[in-house]
Amino acid sequence: MSDQSDRTGHAERGDRPSILGPAAGFGVTFKAMFKKRLTEQYPEQKKPTAPRFHGRHQLNRHPDGLEKCVGCELCAWACPADAIYVEGADNQDEERYSPGERYGAVYQINYARCILCGLCIEACPTRALTMTNEYELADSSRRDLIFTKEQLLVGLSEGMVDTPHAIFPGTDEGAYYRGEVTSAAPGTVQQERTERDKEVQQ
Ligand code: SF4
Ligand code: SF4
Repeated sequence: MSDQSDRTGHAERGDRPSILGPAAGFGVTFKAMFKKRLTEQYPEQKKPTAPRFHGRHQLNRHPDGLEKCVGCELCAWACPADAIYVEGADNQDEERYSPGERYGAVYQINYARCILCGLCIEACPTRALTMTNEYELADSSRRDLIFTKEQLLVGLSEGMVDTPHAIFPGTDEGAYYRGEVTSAAPGTVQQERTERDKEVQQ
C-alpha cells in the first residue's frame, strides 16, 4: 500500500469503485434537500433571545430617577477587553446625580472592543450596570460604536424625575439601597446642569 492510499483510505476500504465517490457525496446533498430548512429570515424575522442573553448594557436608576452608578470604576477594571471608560465626580447638593457622595460623570462602552462576556455587570457593586437582550450593535463607524452615558442610561419610568435632582427628603444613601425610596418626593424638580457637568461631559 502506498503512502497516498494510507492517507485517503480508498485502497484500504476497496469496497467502492472510485467513480461512485462523487455520487455518494451528492447523496448527502440530496438527503439534505428534503430536510426542514434552518435558514433564519433575519432581519425581517427576529428570533427572541434567551431571557438572560448578554446584549447591550444599561445604566440603571433608583425609583426616584437618581442614578445607581457611583463612578467606582470596578466595571472598567473587571473588563478583559478594556472596553469601559469611567470618570467619577463628587455630587453637590445643588446638582445631584446619585444618592451618595460620588456619581459616574463620564461613562463610555466601546462596542468595537466589548465581547459581551458580562464580567463588568458581575463586578458592579450597586447593580447600576446590567445587560439587556438587545444585540443589534453593528455599525460602520468606530466612533459610533462608543456608547456614551446618555445612550446607556435607562429612560424614566413612572415616579422618576430626571437627574440632577435632590435626594428624597429625610433619607440617606442607605435608604435607597434598602428599597425604602419608591418614587420621587412630591415637588421634586430637575436641577440645572452647571458648567461643571457640561465640562465633564466634553
Ligand atoms: S461585557 Fe465583558 S467585554 Fe463587554 S464591557 Fe463588560 S466586561 Fe468588558
Ligand atoms: S457601573 Fe457599577 S461598577 Fe461601573 S462605575 Fe458605576 S457603580 Fe461602579
